[in-house]
Amino acid sequence: MSVLPITVYGDKILREIAKPIENIDGEVIAKIQQMFFTMRQASGIGLAANQVGWNGKLFVIDLSPVEGFEDHKPVVMINPEIVEKSDELVIFEEGCLSLPFIRAEVERPESIVIRYYDTDEKEHEIEADDWFARVIQHEYDHLLGKMIPDRVTPDLKKKMQKELLRIMKRQIEPDYIITEK
Ligand code: ZN
Repeated sequence: MSVLPITVYGDKILREIAKPIENIDGEVIAKIQQMFFTMRQASGIGLAANQVGWNGKLFVIDLSPVEGFEDHKPVVMINPEIVEKSDELVIFEEGCLSLPFIRAEVERPESIVIRYYDTDEKEHEIEADDWFARVIQHEYDHLLGKMIPDRVTPDLKKKMQKELLRIMKRQIEPDYIITEK
C-alpha cells in the first residue's frame, strides 16, 4: 500500500465542507484503508478525508499509540454528527498532521455524543470523553473546514501566523509526505 500525500494549511480542500458519503462501496473502503496506512506512517492518531485530498465526510482514529489507550480499537466514522456536547470545557494541547510542528492549547467540550456509520453501514451512537472526545472533535472540525487556528484565542493565532506562512511556503520538512505547493 502506498501513502497518500497529506494536505497542509493553505490547501483549499481543508477549507471545504465535507460532502456526505452516499455509498459505502469497495472504493470507499479501499480509500479508508489507505487513510489508516497514511496516518500510521505519519505517526498520527486521527485523519480526516480532506487531509488526503478527498472531499468526503469521514475520518479515521487510532488511539492505540497513546499511553493508556493501547486497547482502544481503531475506528472510522462515516457521515458523523455530533449530537451532544458537555457544558464542561477542557483545555488540551493539540497537534495536526496538516499543521506540521505546530502545537496549541485548544478549549473544547470535555465529552460529546456522536452518531456515525461504520463500513458495514451500521449506525452507532456513542459517548466519548477524555482523549477520544478530543480527537473526534478535532477531526470533526476538519469536516467543517475548520482547523486549530480557528479554535484558539486571537492572540495565539497572531503568534502562529509566522509558522502558518512557513507551512504555506513549504519551508518545513516533516518526516511524512505532504502535498506540493
Ligand atoms: Zn488535524
